[in-house]
Amino acid sequence: MKNIVLFGPPGAGKGTQAELLKNKYNLIHISTGDVFRYNIKNKTDLGILAKSYMDKGDLVPDEVTIKMLQAEVNKNENANGFLFDGFPRTESQAIALDSFLTTKNQSINGMVSLDVPEDLLVERILNRGITSGRSDDQQIEKIRNRFNEYHEKTAILQNYYEKQNKFYGVDGVGTIEEINTRLQKVFDKL
Ligand code: AMP
Repeated sequence: MKNIVLFGPPGAGKGTQAELLKNKYNLIHISTGDVFRYNIKNKTDLGILAKSYMDKGDLVPDEVTIKMLQAEVNKNENANGFLFDGFPRTESQAIALDSFLTTKNQSINGMVSLDVPEDLLVERILNRGITSGRSDDQQIEKIRNRFNEYHEKTAILQNYYEKQNKFYGVDGVGTIEEINTRLQKVFDKL
């Protein structure tokens, strides 16, 4: 079973690449951002709560996010493996994920990070905002706040997985196909 964390700042291309990789490696793709957006669309209690944070570009509280992630994993008991996209985003989430997987005799095989310079990230996010309609992709101050959250709470996870010898950095600049080829080289080894 392969359990892989796809990592990188907002706009790094995690969602785009996850769509390709989940088919190639027969993995269940769980994007916490997508699950929140689905709940917002359906006006569930979780969606209403998540929206109040997402609208500002803040992270949704750990307790809520971890519970939701566990429920998503539990929906797929017979999976060949999981591709986590946008989770974990804090050290508490990473610790919770490790202990949750341990209860299932599973573990994370690797964290694969897409490295992209920040000016290119902003350009990509604004472009995505034109078609996605995501309000957090359209306003520069929301985008900046998402980067702040990333630098303050998420970037440290590189160190968390490095300590376990599970961190792999991949150049995230290029065409979708070029980046996908680089990612596959890493995934094949995990
Ligand atoms: P994304 O689609 O991954 O860019 O996530 C969009 C927004 O959803 C983020 O800015 C957060 O508000 C929220 N979100 C997604 N994943 C998480 C997470 N693991 N922890 C906390 N908030 C999250």
